[in-house]
Amino acid sequence: MIPRSATFRANSRAALDNPELVRALGTMKTGFRQKRAAAVDALPEFDALRDRAVAMKNHTLDHLDHYLESFADKVEAAGGTVHWATDAEAARQQVLEICRAHGAHTVTKGKSMIAEEVGLNEALEDAGMRPVETDLGEYIIQLRREPPSHIIAPAIHVSKAQVADAFRAAHGDLDPARELDTPRALLDEARAVLRHDFTAADVGITGANLLIAETGATVIVTNEGNGDLTQLLPRVHIVLASLEKVVPTLDDASLILRLLARSATGQTASSYTSFSLGPRRPEDADGPQAFHVILLDNGRSEMLGNGFREMLRCIRCAACMNHCPVYGAVGGHAYGWVYPGPMGSVLTPALIGIDKAAPLPEASTLCGRCEAVCPMRIPLPGLLRQWRARAHDQRLSPPAMRRGLAAWGWLAARPRLYHPLNRLAAVALGRLGRRRGGFARLPLAGGWTKSRDLPAPEGDTFQARYRRGARRP
Ligand code: SF4
Repeated sequence: MIPRSATFRANSRAALDNPELVRALGTMKTGFRQKRAAAVDALPEFDALRDRAVAMKNHTLDHLDHYLESFADKVEAAGGTVHWATDAEAARQQVLEICRAHGAHTVTKGKSMIAEEVGLNEALEDAGMRPVETDLGEYIIQLRREPPSHIIAPAIHVSKAQVADAFRAAHGDLDPARELDTPRALLDEARAVLRHDFTAADVGITGANLLIAETGATVIVTNEGNGDLTQLLPRVHIVLASLEKVVPTLDDASLILRLLARSATGQTASSYTSFSLGPRRPEDADGPQAFHVILLDNGRSEMLGNGFREMLRCIRCAACMNHCPVYGAVGGHAYGWVYPGPMGSVLTPALIGIDKAAPLPEASTLCGRCEAVCPMRIPLPGLLRQWRARAHDQRLSPPAMRRGLAAWGWLAARPRLYHPLNRLAAVALGRLGRRRGGFARLPLAGGWTKSRDLPAPEGDTFQARYRRGARRP
């Protein structure tokens, strides 16, 4: 996927002009938030679990090499094969080699953000194979040839009627007069079509929510059961996961699982939590004949030491985007790459370079809701500020903004000049604004006044008001 993050502003304008999207985002806001809040309220130890999870994950990141080697040893001992991929190209080639070695034609896929990150579907198609997404949301966006717009609800931007249109276009062998007006009808059709693909698949590819170092197991959580059919029915199972998914023990995995489902969908536990370890053993009733794990770095090692290590604690629950006013207004596609919302605005510059994603750290009001709800206590606003500073230092921010900040910096460093000028501006704007009833237009405030009036300032500076307040008994 070619990143379009550099055009975030234009992408956002297009999103705001899309009424279907605006409607879909309105529904998302209430649903996810209310369910998360109810689930968290029902678990008094939620905050204590967060603290334990943060400590566990920090420890794991401090000893990442040890836990990854331990995980790899356990996978190999169980008869699986571990591949190390430094970047997206290496991961794509490793998947293709395995698929070719097994003569694969149809490749089923469980939901995997890492597969999106490396552009796996395009690589499989270019190599003459047929990738089939089996998560319903992913299946819908695959038919529509578009990227996900949310990390746990990839087709949240698509209306029921649009899904029906996509199904009619893709399932040309079915009765054109069939009813596709209800979610039930759409679900039944997807299930019937995908059933053939599940049984025809030569290779199944899943992601992993967790990798357990102590046992070598990979863990996926789903609500549709498609992940199990993807990893159990084909002859070959490939797990594509990034390095930071490893946790030391089964207990640590269970700690994350308790936070993940509640933060993501407000469930106590996802409908399916499935553990995979190696290929089928002689005594097993089912399972793949070959089991491969591809461990992707793609910039994560660098994040361990470049100031963005805390982002590697992310468990991809999506709570930050579900509570973000910016994501809630423009949706995921505006972010222009795989990861949207606050976590994407931190992660994307780290993975593809701040030069290709400079507007993303600006796509935040820094209101702090993302950090407040993040189960892994990732300081997202602080990390966004770090990216803003780096973009500024590399002269990637708009020239007008840089000039304005330079002028303000010069003035702020001279308090004897700054305070009287500030007071003068506040008094003048206050008087003028009160006389006019606010400002419909104001130099340097065009971004605000384009869509609403700027209220008249109080007519005094914060510091003056604070001093007055502080003097009160
Ligand atoms: S940053 Fe936090 S809230 Fe956002 S997806 Fe990651 S773990 Fe969830």
